[in-house]
Amino acid sequence: MEKVVVVGANHAGTAAINTVLDNYADKEVIAFDANDNISFLGCGMALWIGKQIKGSSGLFYSDKDKLEAKGAKVYMETYVESVDYTNKVVHATGKNGKTCEQPYDKLILATGSIPIAPPIKGIELENVQFVKLFQNAQEVIQKLESGRIKRVVVVGAGYIGVELAEAFKRNGNEVTLIDMADTCLSGYYDREFTDLMAKHLEENGVHLAFGQSVKEIKGTTKVEVVVTDKEEFQADMVVLCMGFKPNNTLGKDTLELYTNGAFLVNGRQETSVPDVYAIGDCATVYDNATKGENYIALASNAVRSGIIAAHNACGTSIATEGVQGTNGISVFGFNMLATGLTLAKAKSLGLAAVATDYEDWQKPLFIEHGNFKVKIRIVYDQNTRIILGTQLSSDSDISLAIHFFSLAVQENVTIDKIKLFDAFFLPHFNQPYNYITMAALQAK
Ligand SMILES: Cc1cc2nc3c(=O)[nH]c(=O)nc-3n(C[C@H](O)[C@H](O)[C@H](O)COP(=O)(O)OP(=O)(O)OC[C@H]3O[C@@H](n4cnc5c(N)ncnc54)[C@H](O)[C@@H]3O)c2cc1C
Repeated sequence: MEKVVVVGANHAGTAAINTVLDNYADKEVIAFDANDNISFLGCGMALWIGKQIKGSSGLFYSDKDKLEAKGAKVYMETYVESVDYTNKVVHATGKNGKTCEQPYDKLILATGSIPIAPPIKGIELENVQFVKLFQNAQEVIQKLESGRIKRVVVVGAGYIGVELAEAFKRNGNEVTLIDMADTCLSGYYDREFTDLMAKHLEENGVHLAFGQSVKEIKGTTKVEVVVTDKEEFQADMVVLCMGFKPNNTLGKDTLELYTNGAFLVNGRQETSVPDVYAIGDCATVYDNATKGENYIALASNAVRSGIIAAHNACGTSIATEGVQGTNGISVFGFNMLATGLTLAKAKSLGLAAVATDYEDWQKPLFIEHGNFKVKIRIVYDQNTRIILGTQLSSDSDISLAIHFFSLAVQENVTIDKIKLFDAFFLPHFNQPYNYITMAALQAK
């Protein structure tokens, strides 16, 4: 039987394993993971810390038993030390020190990403926390439950830092959010939107320290003070959310890499070495917005790439549709969603980008309850008219609208095409002149 070996069994690996098991009875699946759990939804960490969910039990959707019941062999707490790409053998070591040599016909690397740990003095102090694994979340929560953590400094105002700032605030902590950029979420939204989120965070009691970079963390054994180039902040806990880098240890000397070290893959998730696939956070994605390779570490990309790699490894040729970095964030009831390029990013890439902005109530004004304003920006190329990206914000759940724009960017839809497309109207949901149509109609 042909052997498909999967290294890393979190979101990407689990998707690949399940796809092989569900579709190809003639393949043997062997998986290795260094951790003792599978499929932890990191996005639940903030909800758990902020006590918006009861506990962690619902944050997993798979485990060794489930995968083995379907026919896989799964080695947990087993670290793959190296891969012999010439002889097609994986070398692994279990927790007990027992080593194992596993031959493969097809290899799927799903080794994920690791938090960026900048060379900041004091980073090794007690209560300086990273947030990635289930164990990280558990440790943070145990420390919070000790009652000794009053002041939390979150470093990095990307979507994880912003979500965690909210979570610590909901937990009753004093929270400072630091970022070297002069706003939050600047990688995903234009200023008009990031300012809204910043205001919202401040109104909910998060102290913002933007435009500052952390120089040192001070303390004797435990963290006490965070020193930036401008200020000092007292802290009982520091949470570092400064991004992730691909975990490329197993292939960095053999496989072709992207600029940040991710395994470079084609649309079928194939690496530069035959029969070796890479998926999820350790691999590149094809970005429809920039029309090239990119690195976008998201669980959504991990799952899709896992499915694609599994089919290709098992002989069914399918290719990615590409991605456009579609994302969302919901903080203190305020929702922001984005896909594709911001206006600032599009301009920085030299595109002739312009934007159409519109803001209105989601529903007719006679709907007095559950009716909130929606703000939309559609970015498009003024020469080709093609939609490059979209941003949305509202207190309403308008999340499904971003999928529409995600597909528009993927399929090179022009702004003119959506001016008079067939949008339904029902006062429970929208206005006769809905915000998408109105924004598009206003495009020059
Ligand atoms: C706090 C937080 C919130 C997030 N929120 C969202 C969200 O809301 N939406 C979203 O889309 N994404 C979110 N993400 C991102 C998402 O979690 C990642 O994109 C996703 O985990 C990537 O999955 P992966 O399987 O590729 O990699 P990983 O999750 O990094 O898993 C890699 C696995 O490989 C194993 N491994 C690595 N090396 C070896 C080795 N040599 N031998 C054996 N095993 C190995 C590891 O133990 C691990 O289990 C969030 C992430 C965090 C940290």
